[in-house]
Amino acid sequence: KWEEILQKVKEEHEITDISFDTWLRPLEIYNIKDNTLYILLKNEQVAINYINKKYYLPIKVAIAETIGVEYEIEFITPAQTKNMKPVVDASPLNKELINSAANHSNLNPNYTFDTFVVGSNNRFAHSASLAVAESPGEAYNPLYIYGGPGLGKTHLMHSIGHFILDQNPYAKVLYVTSEEFTNEVIECIRNTNNATKMSQLRDKYRTVDVLMIDDIQFIIGKEMTQEEFFHTFNALQTQGKQIIITSDKPPKDMQPLEERIRSRFEWGLMADIGVPDYETRMAILRKKIENDNFEINDEVLNYIAQNIKSNIRELEGALNKLLAYHNLSNEDITMDVAINELQNIITPDKPKEITSQLIIEVVADHYNLTIDQMISKNRSKDIAKPRQIAMYLCKTMTDSPLDAIGSLLGGRDHSTIIHGVSTITKDYEANPELKETIETIKKKINPN
Ligand code: ADP
Ligand code: MG
Repeated sequence: KWEEILQKVKEEHEITDISFDTWLRPLEIYNIKDNTLYILLKNEQVAINYINKKYYLPIKVAIAETIGVEYEIEFITPAQTKNMKPVVDASPLNKELINSAANHSNLNPNYTFDTFVVGSNNRFAHSASLAVAESPGEAYNPLYIYGGPGLGKTHLMHSIGHFILDQNPYAKVLYVTSEEFTNEVIECIRNTNNATKMSQLRDKYRTVDVLMIDDIQFIIGKEMTQEEFFHTFNALQTQGKQIIITSDKPPKDMQPLEERIRSRFEWGLMADIGVPDYETRMAILRKKIENDNFEINDEVLNYIAQNIKSNIRELEGALNKLLAYHNLSNEDITMDVAINELQNIITPDKPKEITSQLIIEVVADHYNLTIDQMISKNRSKDIAKPRQIAMYLCKTMTDSPLDAIGSLLGGRDHSTIIHGVSTITKDYEANPELKETIETIKKKINPN
């Protein structure tokens, strides 16, 4: 792992062999305490300041990207090791690294079986998921969960992942959206060095114990991706590895899709999730306010549950909106407040309007970010890029003035928005992966 991290730094920062051998090679992990990795520089004292200045951030970022956890790092010299025990052999360290990687295999910590409310709409999908979680590779393979947007497919899928990792922290659980998978395939094809890239991709996907691909409907019509998926599927299936797939539709409605892939989807178990009934909607709302330690009267809950019927994400969205209102104003949530605050969400007969707010929510959801992160000052790439994509989509899909977009995005001025929009506009043409992503997000915003 450590070697992998150093190589990553080398590649990403185009470090020459000589610099690498001089500065990076002599580094080794000495200890991990709490959230800090102590990295020992075996030779001279002088170098440490230089290394700190030049390589602190690259190493920190590479660690976070490789193992999925942010560690503080500190470089130490042999003299500083006196009060500290080394990690005697590499295995506990590796264990720790593996563990933290496992715990962060792209899974949303809130999406567990514990937080999932079982109702008539999802009872079958829930028990199928639990069976797969208890006996991966043995119960049903593949498990194919399908249903409309916002009904809990991703939540169930992540629940399976958490369950398996709780049982066995060493299990290799990989969760990707089909769009991420597609992008990786495209990148391989584009890359001049594509034999190596391709074998890396195969290595990544064909050596896991559990592969979860979310929203597989996006591979419809993408031949190369289907081809790669087909072989991945077969490789895993023959090794008895678990495959879990979600889609917004049953296999028979996936058109156009190669027949051999469709038939594989139908090999295991197909479970649909339907629209929740009133009791389930109320139970979900109750569970959520309990988790958030929020109090709200039944009349208001009832109002939400009566009016938002077909999408649990929107159901939660309504509640979050009231929660935010309460936190800002410190007022109790009365019926009047609820009706007023939710008028944009609860619009019984009108088709849904595409607003900048909606776009920001969809982009955040797509990248698994919170709205707070979207509007924050944080400029790390993982957040800044989605934020710019939101700017671009607000500009191209709505009539919102730039200032309005800026203020929704945390009070950014309109030159920032112009910059974001033009960056993405350029990248859109130059970068097929980004284009793919943006088209996917657009479909999520406006499915028609
Ligand atoms: P999908 O993947 O089907 O579009 P998600 O799994 O993302 O839907 O669910 C949307 C939101 O609704 C998530 O925040 C999820 O936690 C919540 N949700 C969905 N179903 C349930 C459920 N049965 N119990 C609790 N929360 C749920
Ligand atoms: Mg989903």
